[in-house]
Amino acid sequence: MDKKEAVKLCICRQCPTYVECNEEIAFCLSTTGKSKCIKKESGCLCPGCPVHEKMGFRKVYYCLRGNEKDQLANK
Ligand code: SF4
Repeated sequence: MDKKEAVKLCICRQCPTYVECNEEIAFCLSTTGKSKCIKKESGCLCPGCPVHEKMGFRKVYYCLRGNEKDQLANK
């Protein structure tokens, strides 16, 4: 899935943890880093996201803990 499609499907903006900041979104992707603005975990919608499902991702809180690849590598 390319970033363009992922950004269209991403549900981060509906998430209680999300903070609008410089159009940051789709934190799960290896091309996206942690949020520069989100500081606190207040619930995560990632497990219910079509991107998470289509990509077969397993992690959560990408905005704070890092993208799937980094979390799997424990970076
Ligand atoms: S917790 Fe998950 S769904 Fe919520 S903003 Fe962060 S990455 Fe997106």
